[in-house]
Amino acid sequence: MSKGTLYTVSAPSGAGKTSLVKALIENDSQVTVSVSHTTRPMRPGETDGINYHFVSRDEFVEMLGRAAFLEHAQVFENFYGTSKAWVEETLASGRDVILEIDWQGAAQVRKQIPETVGIFILPPSQQALQERLTGRGQDAQSVIDKRMAQAINEMSHYVETDYLIINDDFTAALTELRAILVAERQRLARQQVEHAALLQSLLRKQ
Ligand code: GDP
Ligand code: ADP
Ligand code: 5GP
Repeated sequence: MSKGTLYTVSAPSGAGKTSLVKALIENDSQVTVSVSHTTRPMRPGETDGINYHFVSRDEFVEMLGRAAFLEHAQVFENFYGTSKAWVEETLASGRDVILEIDWQGAAQVRKQIPETVGIFILPPSQQALQERLTGRGQDAQSVIDKRMAQAINEMSHYVETDYLIINDDFTAALTELRAILVAERQRLARQQVEHAALLQSLLRKQ
């Protein structure tokens, strides 16, 4: 069995990465999404262990101390981190893993695991981003203002990715996201492991 592929999906807050990744994994049993640890307060509708592992600042620092994170970053006033053990075990089991993380985290992951596939999602306009953040209706206006102010900085990092998706029409963006995973699965190195017996038999002289 070949190892799974690691993906990072980055985007400014409100561009639609959570909605796109959720829709992707609903119809693809080979891929799973990492649940980050965060010190951010829980939003209405969020569940501990599903959207995030919600932890205190002290717990987060304790995890940092025992090198439990593959990467971590401060985004806005909160800390976010990806569990190293979970990612490694899931990839080893042959499943693909998606990390929905900011550009700082994506850069750290790429440094440690160079074969990571980077995907960046952008909104069709600044106005659409503002409307989506407001329309989601889960953050206070002051939080939305801070996220909008940070958006241009986050978006400027799109050049560090492998694939770029503009999330204008949701269905079109989802098709593009699926296409990336389908293409990555046909890469030669992966197919050589997946179809080792077939490839050997095809080249056998009769
Ligand atoms: P949303 O993107 O508006 O839904 O807001 P979130 O609170 O879910 O995420 C805030 C920021 O933290 C985003 O830029 C995420 O990409 C980033 N983030 C979430 N989880 C992680 C993580 O485990 N590691 C890192 N480095 N960033 C994360
Ligand atoms: P992120 O995880 O990047 O912060 P979300 O997935 O929470 O973004 O999306 C932010 C809001 O925008 C949500 O209310 C979502 O339903 C909406 N949204 C996502 N994609 C689109 C789209 N293509 N067109 C219109 N609204 C969208
Ligand atoms: P939110 O607080 O709106 O859920 O997320 C804000 C930002 O934090 C998003 O851009 C999200 O991608 C990022 N983020 C969430 N989890 C992690 C993580 O584990 N690591 C990093 N680096 N960023 C994260």
